[in-house]
Amino acid sequence: MSDKYDVIVVGAGPGGYVAAIRCAQLGLKTACVEKWANADGKPVLGGVCLNVGCIPSKALLDSTWRYHEAKDSLGVHGITTKGVSLDVGAMIDRKAKVVSQLTGGIAQLFKANGVTLLPGAGKLLAGKRVQLTAADGKETVLEADNIILATGSRPVAIPPAPLADDVVVDSTGALEFRDVPKRLGIIGAGVIGLELGSVWSRAGSEVVVLEALDTFLGAVDQQIAKEAAKTFKQQGLDIRLGARVTASEVKKGKKSSVSVTYTDKDGEHTELFDRLIVAVGRRPNTDNVLAVDSGVTLDERGFVFVNDFCQTEAPGVYAIGDIVRGPMLAHKASEEGVMVAERIAGRKAQMNYDLIPGVIYTHPEIAWVGKTEEQLKAAGVEYNSGVFPFAASGRALAANDAGGMVKLLADANSDRVLGCHIIGPNAADILQQAVVAMEFGSSAEDLAMTVFAHPTLSEALHEAALAVGGHAIHIANRKKRK
Ligand code: FAD
Ligand code: AMP
Repeated sequence: MSDKYDVIVVGAGPGGYVAAIRCAQLGLKTACVEKWANADGKPVLGGVCLNVGCIPSKALLDSTWRYHEAKDSLGVHGITTKGVSLDVGAMIDRKAKVVSQLTGGIAQLFKANGVTLLPGAGKLLAGKRVQLTAADGKETVLEADNIILATGSRPVAIPPAPLADDVVVDSTGALEFRDVPKRLGIIGAGVIGLELGSVWSRAGSEVVVLEALDTFLGAVDQQIAKEAAKTFKQQGLDIRLGARVTASEVKKGKKSSVSVTYTDKDGEHTELFDRLIVAVGRRPNTDNVLAVDSGVTLDERGFVFVNDFCQTEAPGVYAIGDIVRGPMLAHKASEEGVMVAERIAGRKAQMNYDLIPGVIYTHPEIAWVGKTEEQLKAAGVEYNSGVFPFAASGRALAANDAGGMVKLLADANSDRVLGCHIIGPNAADILQQAVVAMEFGSSAEDLAMTVFAHPTLSEALHEAALAVGGHAIHIANRKKRK
């Protein structure tokens, strides 16, 4: 039996590494176990988010947006560009550099805060012990007063579309293409499918997205989702709803391809693609993480069962991030990590699960927080809605980026803001102002009475708040109030 720790964190993704750093800041003797290693055996920190998720996808979205603008849309500003081309290899290499800069930063932060990094796979044993299996197979058992499980998630695989070399890939493979597929199929019109579809469509692929459900972006306010569907269509993304993929077949050759069969209301169809991305969701990494007598239970979908404070059913054992209920998002994982660290240190931290923002980083971005109009209707809540289109925003017009809108929903009786839904330029950053306001219990009028700098895109949020009360300045209000 080796060292005893105050806290052992299993997994160094945005949930685990943030939890470990916060624990160490609070004076707890902390170790973080991570099994991911690169080819030369060095531990890979940052989990899915930094290595094959949030950051690399945003790097490619940013690169391809610049390419698209330079190639197709600078003329309106009087800028002529000729012979613009994309070096896909250089783009992928830049992405890798950004990733390694950030993951290296975590190792520095561990050092600076005194977190002990333990490379190897962790498994929770009974009695607050963790079995650590190193890459060479050597096993050690570690003890701690508290254990935080943060082992994250991986892509869901579906039998009709098994992965095949670089022809049928998951989201990780889709971040590594070294050339632009001429015809690209994507299964799943969720956040990941739409972001990766945007990347490769801007790079020049003809993209077809096959989505089994009939409703587009069902979790998003449907006024915003409809606007998004219209915009993606204009951008050339061919999104087919009610299209369930039932089979695929890879045709090997000098240039491999994949034929995909799907059914919709008109029957069975087959499409031929150069590559196929399977983006049908993610599942928690909970197999091989728990000994049978660990005392931790899983729900029917394999997520670790926890309460609002991320406590599992085993005393002193917590679970956070993608392995527990709630949206599979990096910021949710990190905030849970901070909450758990603080509670271990005896503080009274808690998380507001009602205010976790969601973002799709397409262009325009789609961002939301709180209740949608559909949810308020279903719950029988009386509300007022204020909508402001970016077409009426001076700053958006100046930037030639005036598609979309800000929509604010407020309780009809108390005027408290209940939801904010945005599609448009910098939607994620504008939304964050609504998140802060809602966290402080803001009314729409509070936002309406706040001074916003002019000319900013954020003024659209101000005007949406004014519109809730029926007195937006720069649009004709639908309802007239004094
Ligand atoms: P993970 O990031 O999955 O990390 C878990 C870590 O645990 C990994 O390093 C893994 O190797 C390690 N591990 C697993 N088992 C063991 C074990 N037994 N022993 C030791 N270590 C173990 N979210 C956003 O908020 N914004 C975005 O823009 C966004 N974009 C995304 C884009 C893509 C393409 C993908 C795939 C995901 C994206 N996400 C985004 C989701 C985000 O990446 C996850 O929600 C987040 O990474 C979850 O964090 P986590 O710490 O719970 O788990
Ligand atoms: P998300 O979980 O948000 O990443 O989205 C994944 C999407 O993939 C969901 O909207 C699913 O309906 C969709 N999906 C899952 N299986 C299939 C399938 N066989 N064919 C088409 N779409 C699918």
